Amino acid sequence: MDVSADIDVDLLIAGAGPAGMTAALVASLEGLDVLLCEKSGQIGGTGSTSAGTLWIPGNSQNRSAGFNDSVAQANRYLDALIGEGCNRDVRDAYLQTGPAAIDYLCERSDVQFLPCGAHPDYRSNMPGAAIAGRAIVPAPFDGRLLGADFRRIRPPVPEFMLFGGMMVGKADIARLIGRFKSFGNFIYSAKLFMRYLADRVKYPRGTRLMMGNALVARLFYSLRRRRVPIMFDAAIADLVGDRDGVTGARLKCGGKDILVRARRGVVLATGGYGHNKDFRSAFMPQPVPEYSMSYEGNQGDGLEMGRRLGAACAPEQSTSGLWTPVSVVPRPDGTKGLFPHLVLDRAKPGLIAVNSTGRRFVNEAASYHDFVLAMFESNKASPSIPAWLVCDAAFIAKYGLGVVYPGHRNPGKFVESGYLASARSLEDLAHKIKVDAAQLRDTVTRYNRFAATGVDVDFGKGETELNRFNGDADHKPNPCIGLVTTPPFYALAVWPADIAVSTGLATDSDARVLRDDGKPIRGLYACGNDMASVMAGSYPGPGTTLGPAVVFAYRAVMHAKTSVPWVG
Ligand SMILES: Cc1cc2nc3c(=O)[nH]c(=O)nc-3n(C[C@H](O)[C@H](O)[C@H](O)COP(=O)(O)OP(=O)(O)OC[C@H]3O[C@@H](n4cnc5c(N)ncnc54)[C@H](O)[C@@H]3O)c2cc1C
Repeated sequence: MDVSADIDVDLLIAGAGPAGMTAALVASLEGLDVLLCEKSGQIGGTGSTSAGTLWIPGNSQNRSAGFNDSVAQANRYLDALIGEGCNRDVRDAYLQTGPAAIDYLCERSDVQFLPCGAHPDYRSNMPGAAIAGRAIVPAPFDGRLLGADFRRIRPPVPEFMLFGGMMVGKADIARLIGRFKSFGNFIYSAKLFMRYLADRVKYPRGTRLMMGNALVARLFYSLRRRRVPIMFDAAIADLVGDRDGVTGARLKCGGKDILVRARRGVVLATGGYGHNKDFRSAFMPQPVPEYSMSYEGNQGDGLEMGRRLGAACAPEQSTSGLWTPVSVVPRPDGTKGLFPHLVLDRAKPGLIAVNSTGRRFVNEAASYHDFVLAMFESNKASPSIPAWLVCDAAFIAKYGLGVVYPGHRNPGKFVESGYLASARSLEDLAHKIKVDAAQLRDTVTRYNRFAATGVDVDFGKGETELNRFNGDADHKPNPCIGLVTTPPFYALAVWPADIAVSTGLATDSDARVLRDDGKPIRGLYACGNDMASVMAGSYPGPGTTLGPAVVFAYRAVMHAKTSVPWVG
């Protein structure tokens, strides 16, 4: 969209991630005159590199697939996890609106979701937790439908693609690994590969989009079909108004300053403060974690602008982020990638995590968020950042580790690049990674005894549904505990990184931004990671940020639609 003069709209939305695009789509479907501005030249933000899962208790997609869940049960779970009084109104609004917001999108747009079925909550042993039925994922999307606009979709991180550009989903992985084990798997894998080859003749990467990339592509496609105006390379720079109300915003667009007057308000969806050093120092635990997995353009612009107008920040008591351990991957071009250790390796049998003393400090199969919270806690007593994932040759061959995929023929390549440390004995490995050698030997000996009994008396690895879900069901007696005995031994450093921030602008249940005195700033909304996490910094289950991002984008627009328009 080309612009040279000031613009008048009903609703201005800033940021074309999942939150902002949902808001723009709902606004268009509700007949509002909407403008979406995006700071970069591509849509998707962090959402495009995400797994794309949404946590929507009581959703109809899972119910239709035979998985029963209820909002009441989810409420029980959140009461236990984050406290009964905490964020009650906002949380109730989220749970009550979630299924309807998703059905609304599915019925009226190309945004389509599939049930995940079994996908345990992250504290699956708490009252009200579900083992199945709460998570949904976007249906895969054919990027070819977007034509030239395909290049506008921010790609996933390279470490998550095969052959430099092919996306695969969870279901694909098992079939690709077992491609020589059954004729069906072989044909399936061959078809994927042929499609990818055909794509590469015309496109810079594969067009079979999965997970978060499918979500943002579906939102974008729906916006294009409705001809919703999107301004690229257009950053919201300042809000127009004061602590009582907002009437528009100033955009910076290709060297021009543009005034947008917004009759029904402005929705901030600029992705949170993941790459803003000052906010990281102000909100995050000390020492401030170095790495963020959020999109590098997420500089806290929405938060900054809201605060300039007197908006409050929340939640006050949290670690301010939703965390994952990451390993740092040296890339051939000299840059570094971050690989999130979400579900593939930590819970498998035959891997331990130790700190610099050579001791375990956590149930390795805990959720990625809880794993990092344990790193923070352990680091208060002994250096635990980085922590080390330690395993043996048999483990790597069977399950892989980080970017070393299962069955990789040459793990030595990753030792040469500096990604992995390796040694024939545990003592030598300990010296290489500067960990207490005698203690590491003792830790492994003790853990190997747990492998025989199946009981981890120290941290209870393998005791929860979540642990077992990500373990190896064929491994007995405990799907998450196995021997560490076959040299060479390997160690991989992992660091805390935020996949999303949880501190953001305080809002009410309609995503209206609140001032310090608790009153809303008229015409100002926040959603996605610009909005304070409804979970108050806790991580209940898969889809904890995208679920609320979509639901509060929907609620913001439904509120703005009924508000009295400002007339300048
Ligand atoms: C590896 C990984 C896996 C993940 N998996 C999941 C998952 O399965 N489920 C889940 O719930 N969460 C997941 N997340 C987190 C999730 O991706 C984010 O929480 C989510 O994308 C936040 O959405 P958003 O719209 O707020 O921000 P983003 O998706 O980051 O989008 C923000 C957009 O705003 C734009 N922007 C920034 N500043 C401005 C400005 N001044 N003006 C205009 N535009 C601006 C940015 O360019 C960007 O396009 C994952 C994250 C990672 C890294």
